[in-house]
Amino acid sequence: MDSPHRFIPISEPLLSGNEEAYVSECVRSGWVSSLGKYIAEFEQRFADFCGVRHGIAVSNGTAALHLALVALGIGPGDEVIVPTLTFIATANAVRYTGARPIFADSEAETWNLNPQDVARRITPRTRAIIPVHVYGHPANMAPILELAKQHNLHVIEDAAEAHGARYQGKRVGSLGEINAFSFYGNKIITTGEGGLLTTDDDILAEKVRFLRDHAMSPEKRYWHTEVGYNYRMTNLQAALGVAQMERIEEFIAKKRHIALTYNQDLREIDSITLPPEASWATSVYWMYSILLANDFPLSRDEVMLSLRQQNIDSRPFFYPIHIQPPYQTNISLPVAEDLSRRGINLPSAVTLGEEDIQRIVQALREMA
Ligand SMILES: *Cc1c(COP(=O)(O)O)cnc(C)c1O
Repeated sequence: MDSPHRFIPISEPLLSGNEEAYVSECVRSGWVSSLGKYIAEFEQRFADFCGVRHGIAVSNGTAALHLALVALGIGPGDEVIVPTLTFIATANAVRYTGARPIFADSEAETWNLNPQDVARRITPRTRAIIPVHVYGHPANMAPILELAKQHNLHVIEDAAEAHGARYQGKRVGSLGEINAFSFYGNKIITTGEGGLLTTDDDILAEKVRFLRDHAMSPEKRYWHTEVGYNYRMTNLQAALGVAQMERIEEFIAKKRHIALTYNQDLREIDSITLPPEASWATSVYWMYSILLANDFPLSRDEVMLSLRQQNIDSRPFFYPIHIQPPYQTNISLPVAEDLSRRGINLPSAVTLGEEDIQRIVQALREMA
């Protein structure tokens, strides 16, 4: 079916500020690789934004997670607890180190890691917990940090989807020991591909800087005391990042405005559950996410198909990782399985207009 209306993407970057000027400057000056002034500037701006001492830019968010784990000494024989309802990168980063990801269920209220289920999965081999702030809503950190303290575990926030979100007033990326962000094209801000670690720990920060550059001795060039990685970010990427940081508050305000607009219009539909925002949380609504009730007249996939026919993009929720081929287990994590089955992400780009939202809402009304 052809639709006369414009295609509404799920997400698209907005690069209309100083992005072109800063990237052009890299090209004109020749500083296109991983040395150059934008890298340190981007790191500092992002660290300040999170309220932490150190920001270490890397090639992508998965590399950031991997380096955090390596820097904490996690490896073969270790277990790391992760939510099953997250992007696969959270689990893959654990697997890269030789450690085992242990999957925990989600909370029905926040869709994030359930601290009680985490507690049940702690063994003598557990070394760390990775709470993920899924779709922009912070995880319930206090009980997770408390468990970590009791059992002497590391906490790494996977904040790839939640730049600027707040837990009890504190920015995500400042709550765990060392934390990971992504700047992939659909994230709150983008550097094309890119990632960054935040930490207040001087020693961990130094370790990560060392590991991202092939573990080269800071005193002796081309002398390597261990096997490191090339996880460096380029000055070109950081130039985009600096320009995006100039507008990050505006982007977050827009995401929140989009969510509140959808909420107002969808609230009247009983068979749709709106996205959570806990009393202790400020979500950045990276994606505007809804759940369809079991008695919704169409299945989740039928709803997505119908939107598609009206030139409206959407995405299903993540598939729980514990049912996916590389990690398949027999355990059942019922809350995450249920959320995954019923969840849809609706268009949430900062370029979205009011009339776009009205079109999407109207399409859902007609199906409900
Ligand atoms: C995007 C994302 C990542 C990975 O980031 P990349 O930059 O794509 O490697 C990790 N975790 C979560 C939860 C993500 O959404």
